Amino acid sequence: MRLHVLGSSGGYARADNPCTGFLLEAGEARLWLDAGHGTFSALRRVADFRHLDAVVLSHLHPDHCVDLYALHVALLWGEGKGVRLPLYAPPGSREVLIPLLFEDGAKKFDAAFDYRVIDEGMETEIAGVRASFLRTQHPIHTLAMRLEAQGGVLTYSADSGPETDLAALARGSDLALFEATYQEGHPGAPVHISATEAAERAVRAGAGRLALTHIWPPLDPRVSLEEATAVAGGLPVVNAEPGGVLEIGPARREEDRR
Ligand SMILES: [Zn+2]
Ligand SMILES: [Zn+2]
Repeated sequence: MRLHVLGSSGGYARADNPCTGFLLEAGEARLWLDAGHGTFSALRRVADFRHLDAVVLSHLHPDHCVDLYALHVALLWGEGKGVRLPLYAPPGSREVLIPLLFEDGAKKFDAAFDYRVIDEGMETEIAGVRASFLRTQHPIHTLAMRLEAQGGVLTYSADSGPETDLAALARGSDLALFEATYQEGHPGAPVHISATEAAERAVRAGAGRLALTHIWPPLDPRVSLEEATAVAGGLPVVNAEPGGVLEIGPARREEDRR
């Protein structure tokens, strides 16, 4: 599998980084994971949105979902006219998303999207990718996800607080894509974790690599990387940089051997 980082800024965009969004390639399958602001544009640079197999939303905070509205316009009236895409999202998402479509909102939503509910405890297959979910400690219904295909395992934390057992969900993952909103000395509400906490969880999971995402915009991502690396005990740590590509599974292990 291969992960394209479309954006990774936490909460709101930086000048050089959109909000959260990733394109996961698994063989022929293309999944758009989270659709934060600015990510539709970034997605269009690496994929044809008409050929996506699914959009998967971890939760409905705007920094993870608002570009769905751009996609819906493109599907109803733009180049994607006539294409309807599977949309996987937590319970209640359809009802929350529809009002911003105003007149005939439900009709427009259903014309653009084939809505399918995902939740903790469910095991499902999305375009050949095995998916399981864990509800996180966050103010709204939020799902961390473990995605397996092509001999690789990706675990994405979504937004999650310190009580979320990310280590269990990510057990043996090739890539732990964990939020690292805070830094030491800059703690915040317990609805996110820090770079240090992300690294501790990735180490406990026995992950092959850690990618930090959702860093709070005023903070320097280089410091987050240093803090995570300091407690990672040799586990490779990178920042999920916009435009970056992370190989997951056999391709990455091949890279490591060279
Ligand atoms: Zn967020
Ligand atoms: Zn959130």
